[in-house]
Amino acid sequence: MNRRSALKNLGIGGILLSPFSGFSKSPAAGTPVLRIAHLTDVHLKNDFDAPAKYAKCLHHVQQQSPKVELILNGGDIVFDMNKEQINAIDAQWKLTHDLLKEECSIPVQYCLGNHDIWWAEDNKGQSIYGKKYAMDQLQLSKPYYSFMKSGWKFIVLDSVHLDIDQTWYIGKLGEEQFHWLENELRETKANTPVLVMSHIPILTATLMIEDDIVNKWEMLGGDMHTDTAKIISLFHQHPNVKLCLSGHIHLRDKVTYNEVTYICNGAVSGAWWKGNKRETAPGYGLIDLYADGKFEERYVNY
Ligand SMILES: [Zn+2]
Repeated sequence: MNRRSALKNLGIGGILLSPFSGFSKSPAAGTPVLRIAHLTDVHLKNDFDAPAKYAKCLHHVQQQSPKVELILNGGDIVFDMNKEQINAIDAQWKLTHDLLKEECSIPVQYCLGNHDIWWAEDNKGQSIYGKKYAMDQLQLSKPYYSFMKSGWKFIVLDSVHLDIDQTWYIGKLGEEQFHWLENELRETKANTPVLVMSHIPILTATLMIEDDIVNKWEMLGGDMHTDTAKIISLFHQHPNVKLCLSGHIHLRDKVTYNEVTYICNGAVSGAWWKGNKRETAPGYGLIDLYADGKFEERYVNY
């Protein structure tokens, strides 16, 4: 998909870029039913002072008032499972578990990112290959799932799949997961608001930000979902789908299309623990959910 057609499809007026916005006020009535934090792209390893910075982030989340009751981890949980030996991978996951146990008392729900999956060619056919290792670490029986909390339905998607050449990943759901999603939404009551979390953005404007003036944009299939149109059509049949959260790009943006808000929520690690990525500082999303499907949110630099 080139960016010209992306722009055409979005409609210029539909794009809202807001790296450091305050709470975006929608006319929500009453008090929130749930406050959540969306932490994505932590990329944890024992380097770059990352453990101390992640602990600081978790403390920041826990000091919020009103209290955060649920953390959504949007994937790229560990630094990178690829190009690493098994000992280094084990160490990254152990660090993740130890740090959470010591520094965080809020329950966490996880989504798989591309760096949580072992693509190493040499390990093809072995049990370590693919998503199994991370799913075992996170005690997930499936890489996509849903749950209910405080009257909202949360749908966690698995964005990351091998491309057609079977050597690298691409953003998509695949047939089986798409049918599951169709069924999930069909079986959700029309008045139950839905929040969707994916690692790779379903829709984002961040990919149009380039260093130079360009006469043609190119998007990689690994940067944004390649089945965006199909997912958006499905959401359009279910007006209770309100909010889609993603990470992966390490930039913060907010796109509203067909009354669904798509937020790419920066990164806890910023530029892989080396400061800001462009204008987006290391941070997390703080979101208040209301019973009627409205929400208020902002990006917090911890
Ligand atoms: Zn990623």
